[in-house]
Amino acid sequence: MSIVAHRGEMLHFLDDPAQHGDAAWQYFPDGALVIEQGHVAACGDARAVLPQWRAAEVIAHPDCLLVPGLVDTHVHYPQCEIIAAYGTQLLDWLQRYTFPAEARFHERAHADRISAIFLDELLRNGTTTALVFGSVHAQSVDAFFTAAAARNLRMICGKVMMDRNAPAQLCDTPQTSFADSQALIDRWHGKGRLGYAVTPRFAPTSSDQQLQLAGQLLAQNAGVHLHTHIAENIQECEWVAELFPACADYLAVYEQYQLLGRRSLFAHGLHLSEREWARLSACEANVAFCPTSNLFIGSGLFALQKADAHGVRVGFGTDIGGGDSFSLLRTINEAYKVQQLQQNNLSPLRSLYLATLGGARALDLHQSIGNFTPGKEADFITLKYRATPLLEFRIATCKTLLEKLFVLLMLGDDRTVGGVWIMGKQMKTDAR
Ligand SMILES: [Zn+2]
Repeated sequence: MSIVAHRGEMLHFLDDPAQHGDAAWQYFPDGALVIEQGHVAACGDARAVLPQWRAAEVIAHPDCLLVPGLVDTHVHYPQCEIIAAYGTQLLDWLQRYTFPAEARFHERAHADRISAIFLDELLRNGTTTALVFGSVHAQSVDAFFTAAAARNLRMICGKVMMDRNAPAQLCDTPQTSFADSQALIDRWHGKGRLGYAVTPRFAPTSSDQQLQLAGQLLAQNAGVHLHTHIAENIQECEWVAELFPACADYLAVYEQYQLLGRRSLFAHGLHLSEREWARLSACEANVAFCPTSNLFIGSGLFALQKADAHGVRVGFGTDIGGGDSFSLLRTINEAYKVQQLQQNNLSPLRSLYLATLGGARALDLHQSIGNFTPGKEADFITLKYRATPLLEFRIATCKTLLEKLFVLLMLGDDRTVGGVWIMGKQMKTDAR
């Protein structure tokens, strides 16, 4: 197989810049990223790297910034059709929009169609890995993994477990959710680049018995993830307190069934106590910061400084369809504003870290993806400095890399993504 060297301006992270400063990132104004058999063979200054790879075919990327593929740590593929649904907050939003949309996934053909649209949209936006909710139907996950495998993507997905407080046609039972999840794990987990996540929707829609069986699935299947929601909305938190009166707080519901661990990801976490942050940290669990969704359905402001103070790993989530954009660049833009409202500056380096290596770490996939260290799977994208007239105009005024990067992240969206490479192979990202 041939060796390819991508030459251009490139930036990637070795660690969290909030903790390790300038040692956390590498920037090459004229860099070379060498790909051999789908993996990174070398990355560095082009003049140093290319002489060692004389056989490589060189592909130049002018006027672009080459970065690792973006990572979306929380998103619902069955909710593609309800993006931009008007006028409700979480609990009403589930009843009025989400459940009717998800009910359509009992049809495999519908699940196939939406899986394709969803994955093509992710790629068009430069997102190469995601942790994804299916619907309650096992076939929704079969459809998703089939489509992800066809595109050779590193993806994690799971069937929703939900046995109460939802319409009857969307409810499973503790036993069927256990059996269906186990069958999906057997069929898909670890196949190629795919991984499974045990996925109770959130505490209010699962009985104690179902949550206990979710814990059993984790215990008996090493390496699978846990994916759920926590403390997104005030009414939701009050409801959880009513439903689980014996638990000290929301996190304690999940904790009592052993759902907290290195591969557990909790979406939102907007209304957590000090105890809950401390327990998330102690259990090495992860949280998805979903600013577009948190603003769109009016849930609240994520306290990134609190997560940082407790050392809890954070990734970005678009939370489609609560979120109103597939773009992690738009997500970074809203994240910046959410932090501004809390007198916290979210730097461009930290933002891009959270959208790449930080997201990979939150999913415990950093051994495989997230940066350009040798051996990593070669998922990467180019961001175009001249994607729009405004971007080109504004970039021309920038004097430093950080200024340029900040403008690119704030003004960027799907139009900014020039190309997407999966395991070194360029993907067609615009079927229209
Ligand atoms: Zn969600």
